[in-house]
Amino acid sequence: MRIDEWSRAKASGFNPTQLAILDLLAGRGGGLGVREIAAHIGVSQPTATDSINALERKDCVAKQTDAADKRVVRVAVTAAGLAGLKHAHQEESFTEQAIAALGGGAREDLLLTLIKMIRHLQETGAIPVQRMCVSCRHFAPFAHADAARPHHCKFVDAAFGQRELRIDCHDHVEADPSSRAATWDAFQTG
Ligand code: SF4
Repeated sequence: MRIDEWSRAKASGFNPTQLAILDLLAGRGGGLGVREIAAHIGVSQPTATDSINALERKDCVAKQTDAADKRVVRVAVTAAGLAGLKHAHQEESFTEQAIAALGGGAREDLLLTLIKMIRHLQETGAIPVQRMCVSCRHFAPFAHADAARPHHCKFVDAAFGQRELRIDCHDHVEADPSSRAATWDAFQTG
C-alpha cells in the first residue's frame, strides 16, 4: 500500500499526505477542521497544516470560516482538487489488483475482517469514527430474509448484501454511541 501511495504521488504531483487529505475531503462538502484532518490521517497538526497550505497554493483546497463559530477554519476540496484526485486514481493500484485476484468469498471475509478491525480501533478511540455502514444512522442490519441481500440502507431505501457494506460512504450519518452499539450487536448476531 505504501508503494501504491508513492506511485500515485509521483504520477499526480502530490505527496502521499496531500493525497490522503484530498481523499478524506472528497464527499465532505462542508469541509473539515485542521484538527479533524490531522486525526483522520494520523499526522500532527503542523504536518497537516503544511500539506493543507501546499494544497491551497495549488488551488486544490479552500479554507472557509465556520458559519457557527468564526474561530474555526474549515478546509474543503475544490474542483481542481477533485480533478487531481481522479487523475491520481485512474490506474488500478497493486493493492486493488491483489484484492481483485481473491475469490468472492475471500473478498467478503476480508471486508468483514477489516470492518471489525476498524470498528475496534474507533471504539477504543485510536481513530475517529469512519463512514462505515455499521456506524451509520441509516443502516438496518439483517432487516430482510433474503440471504443475498439481508441489509437495508434507509438513505436509498434499498436492500443490499454483505459484499456491498461500505467503509467510506459519502452519505453516511454517524449514529449516536448507544445506537451504534445496538446496531453492531444486531449485525454480529445476524
Ligand atoms: S448511507 Fe451509506 S453508510 Fe449509511 S447505510 Fe447507506 S450505504 Fe451504508
